[in-house]
Amino acid sequence: MAGTKHSSGVTRREILTGAAVVGAAAVMTSLPLSSAEAIPVPQKWDQSFDVVVVGSGYSGLAAAIEAHDAGAGSVVVIDKAVIVGGNSATASGGYNCADAARQKPQGIEDSPELHYQQTLAGGDFRGEPAKVRFYTEHALDGLHWLEKMGVVFEPKVYTIVGALHPRSHDPINNGRGGAIVAALKKQVDQRKIPVRLNCALTGIVRQEALAGEVLGVQVKERNKVLHIQAKRGVVLATGGFGADVRLRSKYAPQYDDKLPTTNVPWATGESLIFAQDIGADVSGMDYIQLLVACNYFTKKYGDLANLGIDHAVFVNLEGERYVAEDARRDILSGRTMAQPEKVFLWIADDRAAKRYSLERIKMSLDKGLCFTAPTLEELAKILEEKLKVPPAAFLDTVKHYNEMVAAGKDSDFNKKDINLKTVEQGPFWASPTQAGVHHTMGGLCTKADTAQVIDRNGVIVPRLYAAGEATGGVHGTNRLGGNATGDCIVFGRLAGQLAARESVRS
Ligand SMILES: Cc1cc2nc3c(=O)[nH]c(=O)nc-3n(C[C@H](O)[C@H](O)[C@H](O)COP(=O)(O)OP(=O)(O)OC[C@H]3O[C@@H](n4cnc5c(N)ncnc54)[C@H](O)[C@@H]3O)c2cc1C
Repeated sequence: MAGTKHSSGVTRREILTGAAVVGAAAVMTSLPLSSAEAIPVPQKWDQSFDVVVVGSGYSGLAAAIEAHDAGAGSVVVIDKAVIVGGNSATASGGYNCADAARQKPQGIEDSPELHYQQTLAGGDFRGEPAKVRFYTEHALDGLHWLEKMGVVFEPKVYTIVGALHPRSHDPINNGRGGAIVAALKKQVDQRKIPVRLNCALTGIVRQEALAGEVLGVQVKERNKVLHIQAKRGVVLATGGFGADVRLRSKYAPQYDDKLPTTNVPWATGESLIFAQDIGADVSGMDYIQLLVACNYFTKKYGDLANLGIDHAVFVNLEGERYVAEDARRDILSGRTMAQPEKVFLWIADDRAAKRYSLERIKMSLDKGLCFTAPTLEELAKILEEKLKVPPAAFLDTVKHYNEMVAAGKDSDFNKKDINLKTVEQGPFWASPTQAGVHHTMGGLCTKADTAQVIDRNGVIVPRLYAAGEATGGVHGTNRLGGNATGDCIVFGRLAGQLAARESVRS
């Protein structure tokens, strides 16, 4: 199969390895009417499970657990990577939902309706209302389910960068998504669900090229091609394509290889192509989010960047503030890209830094990737020496910001009152930060209340489900910070439950 010639003369292997970059782009823009890539139904399956889940991030692990608990006799999780968790394992793990039990004591008004309205508006109304509704109405239930699975969240909520409202919940383990992945993986292990790593999806087996039920998957496991039957259904939970330079720059040419990414290198989009090979539709593929989260020196996520928006100001290399720190993510990254060297200094006081792992901050400090000083004046000296930031301008900017906080109004950029907090308690921190490709909002079209994949005629592809960043339709043009974790959990759970309830085929 891997060497099958497409009508363009380009082989599937060439498409996947990028060996024929120009040709591949042409192939993918003109989807075949009848799939030349369809994988023939094998005469004999190598293995058989009730539910096959592809991907071991939040959405895949949630789907596997729920498929098991809904009665699927056998479930398997496959993942092409050599470690579990995809982007989820390295993510910050912030989880948005209206949660009166935490928000009321903090004096925060919220509701699933407000979350719905903000998610839709924050994505310029390009999200699908029915899907956004399903997500926002089930997000709290998803949080409680994660708690049942062993994830412990902080008692207080806050506003993650670009979340637009204080409804972000952080897992206690220093706010890392790894804590969620670890808890879910433990549950998967307790249920004795096998997780097979180094096992890549290489195609989806359907009864006919573009018709009939999905029967199973073709995988390559440690260089061996296998056909795995899914007696009830397949769940695609293969994540986004932020690290797939070829695919992302096909849809958004400006996001080429010069831009760093926050994603793990295996966040690539071939599974979307395999699904399209059997007729699935995609939407919003050009809605790709940049986030101000990559360290200026290493171009990597994880080297202290995100110091939150409370008790923090964004200052450019000229020592000037240029944006409201609590703006939408597309505005933050767009304005940052217009600054000298496309970089800014995330200046925060100690109250902001305390939210983060001291161990992690120290690692970045030791490597010279961020800076700290007991006073703003001393920090100004360091920034002048390291990055030629004019100290007088820098000090004036922070002073002026603190004066606006005291006056209760950001008359320069309109940072919301609720997020307007001083930067005055030492030690002070500076993290040189730039934008990187972060999230792909588009992906497979799925039905809002069943997570079933939809084909190019708007018809359900029987027994094929998808969830998480592999799907489109929730976030529109711009994802609110903290909305992806809930998206993955809500729709991952749904996909697993409903795949398990499909009738069993022999
Ligand atoms: C650094 C970072 C921080 C983030 N922080 C937050 C946050 O605080 N809050 C928030 O809401 N969102 C956050 N996000 C976004 C969110 O974490 C992701 O959208 C989410 O983790 C995606 O989960 P997923 O299950 O869809 O995919 P992933 O977790 O990426 O898992 C997909 C898995 O599928 C596997 N796979 C892919 N293709 C194949 C194939 N062909 N065969 C087999 N396996 C395959 C991959 O190897 C991977 O393991 C963050 C993202 C990043 C990168």
